[in-house]
Amino acid sequence: MDFKYSEEAEAFRREFRAWLDANLPDSARNGDNMQGEFMRAESSGWEFHREWHRKMYEGGWVGVSWPKEYGGRGASLEQQVVYNEEMARSNAPSLVNGLGIMLVGPTLIHWGTEEQKKRYVPKILSAEEIWCQGYSEPGAGSDVASLQTRAVEEGDYFIVNGQKVWTSGAHHADWCILLVRTDPEAPKHKGISYILVDMHSPGVTVRPLVQITGDRGFNEVFFEDVKVPKKNIIGEKNKGWQVAVTTLMFERSGISAGRDMMNLVNDLAELAKQVRRNGGNAWDDSSVRQRIGGFACDAMALRYSNLRQLTRRLKGLPPGPEGSVGKLWTSELNLRITKFATELLGPYSQIEYEAQYAFDRGKWLYKALAARALTIAGGTSEIQHNIIGERVLGLPKG
Ligand SMILES: Cc1cc2nc3c(=O)[nH]c(=O)nc-3n(C[C@H](O)[C@H](O)[C@H](O)COP(=O)(O)OP(=O)(O)OC[C@H]3O[C@@H](n4cnc5c(N)ncnc54)[C@H](O)[C@@H]3O)c2cc1C
Repeated sequence: MDFKYSEEAEAFRREFRAWLDANLPDSARNGDNMQGEFMRAESSGWEFHREWHRKMYEGGWVGVSWPKEYGGRGASLEQQVVYNEEMARSNAPSLVNGLGIMLVGPTLIHWGTEEQKKRYVPKILSAEEIWCQGYSEPGAGSDVASLQTRAVEEGDYFIVNGQKVWTSGAHHADWCILLVRTDPEAPKHKGISYILVDMHSPGVTVRPLVQITGDRGFNEVFFEDVKVPKKNIIGEKNKGWQVAVTTLMFERSGISAGRDMMNLVNDLAELAKQVRRNGGNAWDDSSVRQRIGGFACDAMALRYSNLRQLTRRLKGLPPGPEGSVGKLWTSELNLRITKFATELLGPYSQIEYEAQYAFDRGKWLYKALAARALTIAGGTSEIQHNIIGERVLGLPKG
């Protein structure tokens, strides 16, 4: 097996790394550590991330794999992987229009009409328009096809009524990819349409929800007689499920692709070297080193498993349900590592974000609390197990 990248991909790496070194100050190399500030609606984190997004965009480093005609770089799949590796390596902050870049742009490029692509894609890249994803409802999460939000045709418009929940970033969003029921009589997967809704339309109400971390990252969103032009439909009426699944595949593979768990393992090792235990530090304890070694093996296995998928894609095969393996493994490993960090810290793990005496600005408490969310968002771990069992391994339905 040859793990080396092509010379073209390595040249791309050098170019991106040089750009990051020149444009990303050391003080901003906080990567996910900034997530708390970023998600807190009331903080200045939002503006920081918006500014960073703008800088990346001006440098031509947003949506690198998108076709050049829509503002991307037309980067190959291999270059996209290198890009993700360099973002992780440099601990760069995340982009402000994450859902727009990870989900909406690729879905529109795949399914949108030429007019839709020209209208929406450039402003996703530049973060002039921020996007959110309106899938989940109070009675439709894992089984999202049970959704009840209705859209009824009236002249040139759909009139939308209903409620979504857990809508990340809706309080910042200008637009939403919304799943609505357009045929209540049809079997549930066949009566759904995928529409683009202007979040500033009359009748849209956004109410923040507070997570256990204290973040206000997601929301309840209510739609009351919201008028949506019919031309905002993606794909055909009542055939939105296919479009929705495309978005989900981008979401699942995106969740694992953007992370290198080795960074977190290295951070954990550094923590073990600081934490005092039995007159020395935790790192001196061979059982601690063994646990951390185990996490390192898991992180490497994830990296190679992602590369195996890359090989599939390079052979021209589409992203498939295998993306669930990376999503499941990334989120569960993240949970195990951050939980172990709180064990190492003992009572210190309870000291809050940025409080006095907090280790590493209290980031481990934050990360441990936030880790649970990743096992739910984008489809829970149980659902990923089901997908892997049924669609990757071909096991019978349980
Ligand atoms: C941080 C975060 C951000 C999110 N952002 C968004 C967003 O932007 N837009 C959006 O639309 N949604 C978003 N979600 C919602 C997310 O997609 C749902 O929470 C998720 O799909 C689970 O749905 P649910 O919460 O309704 O749980 P349920 O579906 O009610 O599940 C409850 C429990 O039952 C289990 N379960 C359900 N069905 C099965 C089954 N068939 N087999 C085995 N076990 C099962 C689940 O695994 C879970 O443990 C977000 C969630 C989180 C945590």
